Amino acid sequence: MGAQLKRSLKVSRWGLLFLGILSWLLLFSWVPAQAFSQLGGYTCAACHQERAGVSSRTYEGRQVCPECEQASLPRCFICKIPIRGGGLRFSDGRRNCDLHSQRVVTTQSEVERYFREAWSLIARYVSPQIKCDPDLTSVHIVDYNLFVERLRLSGKAGESRAHGLTLTINSGGFVTMPVSQVFVLQGLPDEHALSVIVHECGHVWQNANLMRPLDKTRNEGFCQWLSYKVNQGLGRRQQMAELLARRDPYYGVGLQVYLQLEKQLGIEGLLDYALGRD
Ligand SMILES: [Zn+2]
Ligand SMILES: [Zn+2]
Ligand SMILES: [Zn+2]
Repeated sequence: MGAQLKRSLKVSRWGLLFLGILSWLLLFSWVPAQAFSQLGGYTCAACHQERAGVSSRTYEGRQVCPECEQASLPRCFICKIPIRGGGLRFSDGRRNCDLHSQRVVTTQSEVERYFREAWSLIARYVSPQIKCDPDLTSVHIVDYNLFVERLRLSGKAGESRAHGLTLTINSGGFVTMPVSQVFVLQGLPDEHALSVIVHECGHVWQNANLMRPLDKTRNEGFCQWLSYKVNQGLGRRQQMAELLARRDPYYGVGLQVYLQLEKQLGIEGLLDYALGRD
């Protein structure tokens, strides 16, 4: 009886010791992470190391340490975050970070599908008046080298940070018709790609129906507004925020001008303005 009690005491003492060690282990694994976040530490999104203090740079909410920021690393062509590994690499040398490597538009058939989808979304969320003649419009996926070449040919060499381009020429022949070619940079993440393609659809429609040449704010502003409306219809807040964040005199100011016009004139009046029918 006495020996049995002793043994059970012994067991419970070992059990207590085990529980003690276990709780210390749990505490130690939990405390540093907790203390870390209380000190304002962060995990660098490029090197994945834990860093103390506060990061000086963030990319869409992802923090990057000063070492990665200053190292001459390749950068994502979408968000410009430095890349230590992972993601996508294109033949033209461009890179996409892990975040922007998910669901990218890379093939000709994909870009054609997005183009068709863009027109139907425009009809649904903005106006069925905005449409194109499929016989006079084409869409092409291009790498960066081809894209820059097309920009140069169209006299827009300075816009090398653009992701889409529309070239419209008048067809030869007895009756001249505006023929539009849309070029989309390969490797755009899906929601961004749609945003860019809707913008280019705006140019296709404007170029085919313009009453007179318009200034750049009036052209680009309309296309940004069109893109904004489709993203709003789809509830894509990130894309809407990116469009609203621009502050330049053409795309940024242009969108604000059209958002005001929409309130004052309604969609019909706005479309007249976008074609120079005012
Ligand atoms: Zn780092
Ligand atoms: Zn990125
Ligand atoms: Zn444009």
